Amino acid sequence: MLENILDFNGNVLNAKFEIGSDEGKEGLVLHSWSGQKNSAYNSALEIVLKRLQNLNIKAIRIFIVSKDLLKFFNQKDREVLLKGKEIIIANSDINRLRKDIGSEQTKIKINPQSKGGNPTKKILLYSPNVSSELWKDIALNKSKNVTTLKEFNEALEKKITESKLMRGGREERLKKANKRPEEIEVVSKTFKRNADVITAVLDRANGFCEKCESKAPFIRAKDNTPYLEVHHVIQLADGGEDSVENAIAVCPNCHRECHYGI
Ligand SMILES: [Zn+2]
Ligand SMILES: [Zn+2]
Repeated sequence: MLENILDFNGNVLNAKFEIGSDEGKEGLVLHSWSGQKNSAYNSALEIVLKRLQNLNIKAIRIFIVSKDLLKFFNQKDREVLLKGKEIIIANSDINRLRKDIGSEQTKIKINPQSKGGNPTKKILLYSPNVSSELWKDIALNKSKNVTTLKEFNEALEKKITESKLMRGGREERLKKANKRPEEIEVVSKTFKRNADVITAVLDRANGFCEKCESKAPFIRAKDNTPYLEVHHVIQLADGGEDSVENAIAVCPNCHRECHYGI
């Protein structure tokens, strides 16, 4: 039975899947993207890979299972390998990984001379550690601990952008909307920051924002010090150092601008 992948907010994506098997290997079959059909295939594949990563699944195997290739190729010749190996998910940049999978897929074709890429043939994702039930839960956003706060917020940002583009009909949607939002659990990852970096940067700023140079907007009740926030110029998540050189003390306005401004 074909169903749709759900994103981190539980929204239905235009990307069909089913549980299927290929020479005894049962897994998740993602349907290919062509024209209007399964237009969210790429995001769906990334979401599935992220969920696998969050579930600590270290690696999976991917086989192309589109009709034409099934007819002419053995399973081993339809396997998508990266540098000759299975798909390593642990510690991978998921966006990069999805693109690498895509470009490897294009190389598996009946006529190697043909220029046609078919970048998104039907694929089967398989792991001995993932049961059919779990594959289904992963696809439908039901597996435990799959959503991080960051992913959840990114999905919400996308929805806000869509809402801005779909002003018409908003009144109707608001009328029908659930006014008691559903509660969900998210897993969060954070960095153990060095307290000395924070205090050294605050000392250096001496009560003035290091961006706009205004005086700190208020005094902290807790310890009577000027309120400033310590921001990493290159984000820790992007590999930035937790060091005095990579940090600035800024007022709350400037801090928001650092994260959300142009
Ligand atoms: Zn400022
Ligand atoms: Zn910051």
